[in-house]
Amino acid sequence: MQQQSDFRFTNWAKNETCVAKKYFVPETEAELVEAIAQSKTVRFTGTGHSWSSICLNTDALINLDRYNKILLLDKAKLQITVQPGIKLWQLNEELDKHGLALINLGSIAKQSLAGAMCTATHGTGIQFQILASQIEAFTLIKANGEKLVIHHTQDKDLFNLCVVNLGCLGVVSEITLNVVSAFNLHDRTFVMSVDKAINQLHEMVNSTDHFKLWWFPHVDDVVVYQYTRTQQKTNDSRFRQWLMDEILSVSVYRLFLKIGNINRNWRKKINSALVKKFMQPLNRIEKSYKVFNVPEPPVHREVEWAFDISVAKDLLREYTQMINASAHRINFIQEIRFTKADEYALSPCYQRDTIWLGAYRLERIDD
Ligand SMILES: Cc1cc2nc3c(=O)[nH]c(=O)nc-3n(C[C@H](O)[C@H](O)[C@H](O)COP(=O)(O)OP(=O)(O)OC[C@H]3O[C@@H](n4cnc5c(N)ncnc54)[C@H](O)[C@@H]3O)c2cc1C
Repeated sequence: MQQQSDFRFTNWAKNETCVAKKYFVPETEAELVEAIAQSKTVRFTGTGHSWSSICLNTDALINLDRYNKILLLDKAKLQITVQPGIKLWQLNEELDKHGLALINLGSIAKQSLAGAMCTATHGTGIQFQILASQIEAFTLIKANGEKLVIHHTQDKDLFNLCVVNLGCLGVVSEITLNVVSAFNLHDRTFVMSVDKAINQLHEMVNSTDHFKLWWFPHVDDVVVYQYTRTQQKTNDSRFRQWLMDEILSVSVYRLFLKIGNINRNWRKKINSALVKKFMQPLNRIEKSYKVFNVPEPPVHREVEWAFDISVAKDLLREYTQMINASAHRINFIQEIRFTKADEYALSPCYQRDTIWLGAYRLERIDD
């Protein structure tokens, strides 16, 4: 097993760092158990995409990058069993080869499956729960080496208590996911006024499979994303994807952010130009995972709050008014998403349909 002493860990956002006395990269379950046995206190890391200090430890860190194999793909049962370090993008590609797909996804697919499961990672869609709801069963190895296999149906109470666990209950060592036949998404993206979007919010949320808003602060318009599940053929152009996803969303967006960092008073105009000039209406059909996932953004800071959906309109009205009236000049998208209630004790959607308000910002571009 690969091991290192005094390993410096830094998360994706570069805002959290620690030096771990021992660092292990196991490839087998036996190595994983051995690494735990050698450690007094231990934390696990997927890809370090969490903004919080959740992965930090000064004793032992166990990285699961190499504990990422596909163990079983059962096409008839629509289930896949994998090791927890597998990345969501690897799962997407592997499932696609077999005409299958994950039921729902968040905005990117760089995360490990276990990292996404443990932290209640979510996508959007009021009929869809957080990603952990796709799990049929998982294996948890506790600090004393005891192994528990927890099933969604047979062990309902335990499953609901343990599936979102912030990495605190032991190591998740195997996951079986329910998947679906591959599907496409009809993506209708357009711009509308913030006021109109808030007034029509519930109609739009309820009439679309996957609905989200991107608000560029200080702008009167908001970008509306409506994705409908379909089996119609894909028709998106590769040239458009290259231009939008590789050139405009990456290089040009970064350039705008850099300009906004020279003088923060330009940010309102920059945000307005981004919405009005670059967020062109879209009407395309593409594979599900290619629509759910957006190009990885530049390193920035995020906090995301979850609220009962009943307060959605008031929340958005007050938030947009508060930001616009403040002295802040915010240079990054604010993202509004929706998920269905669940029964997982530590989930922000526990027993309530949820609106998520993602408050994002970037002060420097250094990547
Ligand atoms: C650019 C970007 C976009 C994002 N988009 C979304 C989004 O659309 N929706 C959303 O909800 N979130 C999103 N996130 C947040 C992200 O999904 C979560 O922070 C997720 O936990 C990151 O996965 P990871 O593999 O990096 O886990 P890490 O950050 O490495 O770990 C997270 C937690 O999981 C634990 N853990 C990891 N593996 C195991 C294991 N095998 N057993 C036990 N515990 C384990 C760790 O100890 C830690 O407590 C985004 C983050 C970034 C940086």
